[in-house]
Amino acid sequence: MNEASPFTQSRRAQQIWAELPVEQRAERFIPALRMLDERTDEFAAIIHQENGKPLFEAVAHEVGASICYLKWLIERAPEILAEEEVSLSVFPHRKATIQRVPWGAVLVIGPWNVPLYIPVGQVITALIAGNAVVLKPSEVTPKSARILEELLSHCCLPDGLFQIVEGDGRVGAKLIKNKPDKVMFTGSVATGRKVMAACAKHPIPVTLELGGVDAMIVCEDANLEYAASAAAWGATFNGGQVCASVERLIIAESVRERFLSLLIDKLERISPERDLGPITFSGQKEVYNSHIADARERALEIATGGHFIDERRFAPTLVTGNGVTNAAIWKEETFGPIVAASGFETDDQAVELHNGISSGLTASIFSSNPDRAKRIASRLKAGLVAINEIGATLYSQPELPWGGVGTSGFGRSHGREGLVDCTWPRVIEQARVSNIEPKRPWWYPYGAKQTEMMKHFGRFQAADGRIDQLAEAAKLGRAATQMLTRTPRL
Ligand code: NAD
Repeated sequence: MNEASPFTQSRRAQQIWAELPVEQRAERFIPALRMLDERTDEFAAIIHQENGKPLFEAVAHEVGASICYLKWLIERAPEILAEEEVSLSVFPHRKATIQRVPWGAVLVIGPWNVPLYIPVGQVITALIAGNAVVLKPSEVTPKSARILEELLSHCCLPDGLFQIVEGDGRVGAKLIKNKPDKVMFTGSVATGRKVMAACAKHPIPVTLELGGVDAMIVCEDANLEYAASAAAWGATFNGGQVCASVERLIIAESVRERFLSLLIDKLERISPERDLGPITFSGQKEVYNSHIADARERALEIATGGHFIDERRFAPTLVTGNGVTNAAIWKEETFGPIVAASGFETDDQAVELHNGISSGLTASIFSSNPDRAKRIASRLKAGLVAINEIGATLYSQPELPWGGVGTSGFGRSHGREGLVDCTWPRVIEQARVSNIEPKRPWWYPYGAKQTEMMKHFGRFQAADGRIDQLAEAAKLGRAATQMLTRTPRL
């Protein structure tokens, strides 16, 4: 391994850290929780200034969400990561335990759109699970990542357990070459592919939290006024620069016109100065321009917006019309305050439209019939589906596993699954009662009677009903006894 690698220090620190019981590791982060609360204004101001998102969003979606997640994590991690005892169905006289073993030195690579809460959710989870972490934040938002360093500097962690390495994609690629034990990546699909390919060379296990082109389904029985307000917010908060923002609307034909006129009114009433997050990364402008140009070429209707309000703000935009589902705006992530709308006649069509693209992070369904909404939800290709709520909001529910399917990636942050993902399972199997047991009847030498015994074993396992099972158990018992007493044996 390269001696200049930050993972050398990580591994030293991790060995000391992993010796501590998980309860003690979790308690170390209580000062970070307190500090997030006490210095909310200061931290939110740094994020607001660097990323540009409205101060309210910095308080609620970054600092506030971090407080809620950390509280849950500190309380629940000890139970979730505790050694688990497993009863064994094939050899019930034996038992097993599953230990959750930290990977070791974890590399977390982050994006710029949620520069504090995303790293909090991955870094502190990995640390509590017993890992050391090197964070490579986005080169666009390094100051926000330093908040995490400030928080963790008050948590009495071993030197080098948490490190930040700043830089662009080349630095991220170099860090992977230094062979961390696990990579947790959040970013675009294009970069995710490169990260996975680089990890495959070693191979290093990787979690990919990638983009989404998330949809909202509006049924004809929905409260349209409420659903239109949800869509206006879900498509535009943080300037639409959210992996789980509403990028597609799938609306029941019978209410489509009414719903869209409510939505247009709401989109036009969003205050650019007060409510609309500016473009954080100027490279996004090209995507907006090309998606709008593609829509115009297809003669789609730009029902509102479609232009820049100023250097850093794009007007909230609605695109609709025949053929919208073939447009780039429908199939690819725009990552801006732009939403495309199509209609459906039947629930089957709504599901088909939703599942017709390659990504699937979150989805939302608006309907006054909870059973119908749940039936639709159960058919959607998406990691999280919210009913009468925006899918992105589920990111602030600490116990829910966050992540997608298809090109939205795999692996999970948050919830039980997120914690378990920060570990590998070590199984220890042993006798229930006595350590001294007879030699196994399936050991050498092999022979016809032994094969017969295994067939009885299969029949016993497959037997249907108590009587058949008892009959097969008796035959198996006789065959096994013959095997146990046979000579000569190895
Ligand atoms: P990006 O892919 O451009 O960059 C992400 C990170 O990867 C940055 O830190 C960057 O420096 C680094 N990087 C770039 N090239 C690399 C390489 N070859 N090897 C290693 N690291 C490399 O993404 P972004 O523009 O910062 O973030 C926006 C994207 O992130 C959107 O697509 C969004 O949907 C996605 N995202 C997903 C989630 C989720 O939870 N699924 C959350 C937030 C953002």
